[in-house]
Formats: sequence, C-alpha cells, structure tokens
Amino acid sequence: MPELPEVETTRRGLLPHVLRRTITGVTLRRPDLRWPIPPDLPERLAGRRIEAIHRRAKYLLLETAEGSALLHLGMSGSLRVLPAGTPVRAHDHVDLALDDGRVLRFNDPRRFGCLLWQPPGDTHPLLRDLGPEPLSDAFDGAWLHALSRGRRAPVKTFLMDQSIVVGVGNIYAAEALFAAGISPLRAAGRVSRPRYDALAEAAKAILAHAIARGGTTLRDFISPDGAPGYFEQELSTYGRGGLPCRRCDRPLRHALIGQRASVWCAHCQR
Ligand SMILES: [Zn+2]
Repeated sequence: MPELPEVETTRRGLLPHVLRRTITGVTLRRPDLRWPIPPDLPERLAGRRIEAIHRRAKYLLLETAEGSALLHLGMSGSLRVLPAGTPVRAHDHVDLALDDGRVLRFNDPRRFGCLLWQPPGDTHPLLRDLGPEPLSDAFDGAWLHALSRGRRAPVKTFLMDQSIVVGVGNIYAAEALFAAGISPLRAAGRVSRPRYDALAEAAKAILAHAIARGGTTLRDFISPDGAPGYFEQELSTYGRGGLPCRRCDRPLRHALIGQRASVWCAHCQR
C-alpha cells in the first residue's frame, strides 16, 4: 500500500510533468473507484490549468483556479504520465489529457483509490478531521503528550490514529516506536513527555529518510504497490518477527495490536 513517503514521492515526481499544464480532456473508463467519480468532473477539469499539486495526508490535490481534483491511490493505485495514444491496460480507469500531447493516467487494480472534487475555498469532508502533518511543526512531543492523557489505547494504535497525526502507517509507527524504545503495547496515556519527544523526532526522521530515499531511488513516478522494497533492508521491525533484534540480539516479538501486525523487542522497548 502506498504510504505517505510514496505519495509524497509521487507528488514530487509528477510536478515537473504536469505543473502549469492545461487539461484538455478527461476520460473516465468507469463511473466509480472506491466512491462514485462526480459525473461533472470531466467538464469541471477540461480547459483548466494545473496550478499546483498539494498533498494532505495520503491525498493528492490537483489544484486549478476552479477547484481541485482530490485523488487517493488506495491500496494499489499509481499515476503515470504517458504519451497520448499509449494503449490502455487493465485497470487504467482515468486519463487526464494534457496540452503537451501526454496523458496523466490513473491505474488502480483494487479500486480502493478515489477521484473526487473539492470546490475552491472549501475543504473536502474527507480532509476536515485530519490531524497535523507529521513533518510539520504542529506535530511534536508536546502535541502527542497533550492528546494522549487518559487514553488507554496502545501507543501504537494512538500514533496511527489519523485524527492525532496523519500518515504514520503501520510500518513507520513500528519503526518509530523501536527507535524511541517505547513498547507498542504501552497505554498511550502512560508515556511521558520526554519519551513522546523522542517518538515524534523518530517518526519525523524515519518519514523524511523514506521520502529522500524514494526521491532518489524511484527513477520515475510509478507509485510502488507493495512494501517499500527500497527501504526494507533498513527496517528494524517490519517483517522481522522472530529474528534477532538489531540492538540486543534477542528474538523480536510479533502479535496483532489493534488488528495490525506488529513487531517489537520486549527487551529494548518498554
Ligand atoms: Zn532488543
């Protein structure tokens, strides 16, 4: 599943190809992805120039003067910029034709992605209740500490709650907790302020590193649809249940926490 770093890598990869290009036409090959595509979206976008591409959580916003196309890659979506006339493959659901003779093509085999519309000056309901961006100054140990008081949920579940902070997915939550030495099972309300400082710093560092690696390793902007393979060999926990801890050599524990596969070291993480 594309996580925040892959979505940000996609955004950066697309920018030089689509920024300030005018959309000359829209082809919808099906009426819906996860949700129905607004039927008037083609006429809203046609003739509009893409003024910016922003990312909020794992959503991409193609901004025009008349509103924004709101796009999510879901579990398996990818975006490519191709010469017009490139044969359509299975699951190529949407084309935005650009004024330079290319198309921005959205492929999504599992159709958990979406393509919606956000009017100018409005915030789409999907974006309204989201927590801060993890790489913004609004996200830090003080924020986590303040929001966690009295919470009994495991700290890993708390960190993955999109109303607390967006984009810290399962892999990155597990890695940040390992780096900060915090057990994923500890009640969120029982983690001290200094330990939340360490956790926020670890989450920022890991996400920033993954974005930097994505930016240099993915030669084009085909979004990966599985685990972040280019990053996997550096991970301390992901996929390593039962293997020796990189810090103390004891075998790593693995269990479901909040229905999500979790790996941690019971010795190094308290
Ligand atoms: Zn250990």
